[in-house]
Amino acid sequence: MAKRKAISLMSGGLDSTLATKIILDQGIEVIGLFLESPFGCKENVEEVAKHLGIKLRIVDKGMAFVELIRNPKYGYGKNINPCIDCRIYMFHIAQRVMEEEGADFIITGEVLGQRPMSQRRDAMDIIDRDSETEGLILRPLSAKHNLPTLAETSGWVDREKLLDIQGRSRSEQLKWAQSLELKAYTAPGGGCLLTDVNFSARLHQFFEQHENPTMTEVRLLRYGRHFDLSDGSHLVIGRNAEENDHLQKISKEDVAKDNMTLFRPYFSGPMAVLSGKNTPDAAILEEAAKLIANYAKKNLVDTQVIEVKRGETATRITVRFPPAAQTEALPVLH
Ligand code: SF4
Repeated sequence: MAKRKAISLMSGGLDSTLATKIILDQGIEVIGLFLESPFGCKENVEEVAKHLGIKLRIVDKGMAFVELIRNPKYGYGKNINPCIDCRIYMFHIAQRVMEEEGADFIITGEVLGQRPMSQRRDAMDIIDRDSETEGLILRPLSAKHNLPTLAETSGWVDREKLLDIQGRSRSEQLKWAQSLELKAYTAPGGGCLLTDVNFSARLHQFFEQHENPTMTEVRLLRYGRHFDLSDGSHLVIGRNAEENDHLQKISKEDVAKDNMTLFRPYFSGPMAVLSGKNTPDAAILEEAAKLIANYAKKNLVDTQVIEVKRGETATRITVRFPPAAQTEALPVLH
């Protein structure tokens, strides 16, 4: 009999790692699927997949996900997390990948009662119904609290070897992880930025101010200080070396295509990115350069040189201290 195949929705965390291992140990071929959000990081999902010895597919959640957050059918959790809509969206993608890979079912690390919004019994039923995946989703950690799924009724998976965990404590999972010698997963407690109160405030305000944002602008939201300039363009200034690297990396393609402007201080100081509908004129570039100088180290002289890069062209602007202060357009992240 041909080996059965499952798609595992993986986050790199303990629960999805354990769920994957339990199904692998039943002789099922598992392909990991990581859905990358513009607001999240890959954690160590690649390392986890390597540790488990499985193939990993990484699929971008895309702009449709951003629009879903703006207007979720089932509303938000405590912050701007639209968990029910998010799971429905993820299950749709997982089902598409399942068909592409010729797989038979989908597994997740969900635990009944663990998360208040999406892991309640009624919410799980809605998610399965609206994503049209009823019977296809096997949740190995809580399987014994759920009705048998296709994988169990077809005899591909032995239901007796599945678990009956429920609730918020991770102690059972940690015991299993230890006994199965699982490594590389991210320790429980981290999380999705959409559940963060500061980031939620920033994203709500961003949605109010930007009707048609680009994906680069959305990705830049995770970092830096944000300012609106007088022509309506938007400036992001990195707060430390790590943020500077992210700004440079995220905007690289758009800067090369002439869609954005990158500022590098000539000496030490923050990196910044300017985005807007119009090509910035000299006055706007100067306005931006002054703001950047505000966050740069003061030199022995009373001026700061800022380099401006757009496409292949780089120019330099000299601004004088003390530069003008301006209120930040979006709430600061802590
Ligand atoms: S916590 Fe974030 S990633 Fe998880 S379901 Fe909610 S919105 Fe989606």
